Amino acid sequence: MARVYNFSAGPAILPEEVLQEAAQEMLDYRGCGMSVMEISHRSSIFDTIIGEAEADLRELMQIPANYKVLFLQGGAYQQFAAVPMNLMKNRVADYIVTGQWAKKAWKEAAKYGTANCIASSEDRNFSYIPDCSDLPVSADADYVYICENNTIYGTKFHTLPNTKGKDLVADVSSCYLSEPVDVSRYALIFGGAQKNIGPAGVVIAIVREDRIRKDVLPGTPTMLAYQTQADAGSLFNTPPVYGIYICGKVFKWLKAQGGLAAVKARNEEKAKLLYDFLDGSSLFRGTVEAKDRSLMNVPFVTGDADLDALFVKEAAKRGLVNLKGHRSVGGMRASIYNAMPRAGVEALVAFMKEFEAARR
Ligand SMILES: *Cc1c(COP(=O)(O)O)cnc(C)c1O
Repeated sequence: MARVYNFSAGPAILPEEVLQEAAQEMLDYRGCGMSVMEISHRSSIFDTIIGEAEADLRELMQIPANYKVLFLQGGAYQQFAAVPMNLMKNRVADYIVTGQWAKKAWKEAAKYGTANCIASSEDRNFSYIPDCSDLPVSADADYVYICENNTIYGTKFHTLPNTKGKDLVADVSSCYLSEPVDVSRYALIFGGAQKNIGPAGVVIAIVREDRIRKDVLPGTPTMLAYQTQADAGSLFNTPPVYGIYICGKVFKWLKAQGGLAAVKARNEEKAKLLYDFLDGSSLFRGTVEAKDRSLMNVPFVTGDADLDALFVKEAAKRGLVNLKGHRSVGGMRASIYNAMPRAGVEALVAFMKEFEAARR
């Protein structure tokens, strides 16, 4: 077996222990004689799987009782429409545009009401997080929207914006469960599982109960109203059974790691290895402002596109794969999610040193 270090932004690396356990249970899940892929979502087996998954997630994130956890589908992208359809009571929302995903969410919301861009970092290719301490929040805004960790650009809100009392909505796709969060500061948190949690096909939304409304925008599809899945315990229709099962295993793995505070400490150590090297390197450099650096996605460049391409190619030969940066930044991007072991980051830094030394 030749496992590589997979630095993909998503779908992304999963904990090897989780994959091994799933492999062992593939043909016969705990004596039931079937794979989890083959069982009914109405079975008691699945009841236990989804029940434990939710309970473990609640424990990990310390989700208050007045928040619902919804296991959804349609990708994070579908939430770009679901959010305004469910929350735009006044048909006004304010967006902070810090990257492509926030921009797409903003454009989508504009289909349903007035979506204001109240801050943006596009002037410098989204390489920083704007000062959000005193923004022109609209008096009648239904919510203020952020993409908390910008997967493509490698920036993260280390301080949440001052929403001046308005609801905060956050896309946390690429930083879900990477550190402890105070859920009570948000009205809605959502993200696709395929970055930092599990396989593609699952979206997890955490919604404050008083924001699960009956009076959603006219024309809202049944499946996009949060109330539908909140009332049905995420079992209104067939959920992504296998994906939820893997997410549940990852939650147990995170608990065994010591919970989110311990996970954060490890993530900080891993990111520091890479950022410290980048700061001292004569060949490579990071592309974002140091104060806004993400713990999860680390873009870097040499400044020479041909050399970047060579680096990506040579790294792959060493089992360091999927390091090519997003086309809008170029260069490289190392996604070092929860499941990336420290040894993977050490191997990457060692190879970067070697690559640099060979060009002195
Ligand atoms: C990947 C990503 C998305 C899009 O997710 P899909 O599940 O493909 O719809 C949205 N937001 C962020 C921050 C992402 O990283």
